[in-house]
Amino acid sequence: MAHTIVTSTCEGIADCVEACPVACIHPGEGKNQKGTDWFWIDFSTCIDCGICFQVCPVEGAILQEERPDLQRTSS
Ligand code: SF4
Ligand code: SF4
Repeated sequence: MAHTIVTSTCEGIADCVEACPVACIHPGEGKNQKGTDWFWIDFSTCIDCGICFQVCPVEGAILQEERPDLQRTSS
């Protein structure tokens, strides 16, 4: 299992990116449905540590489960 960034909820603040110990959070192309930058988690690299979930200031942007249906990985 991995963590998921909900593409339509992420606001591109990127606190999670520097906090991730395995550097598996990557920028998406363009803007999301909110019109903000967005990021995605590489499920194959995520070690499920939960740090991104703790630092993200946007409620609901990160889910503690693998949900490929809610996370885009490209535009
Ligand atoms: S998941 Fe949260 S901390 Fe990471 S970029 Fe999106 S809003 Fe920012
Ligand atoms: S759970 Fe840990 S390893 Fe996975 S994306 Fe979040 S910070 Fe990175």
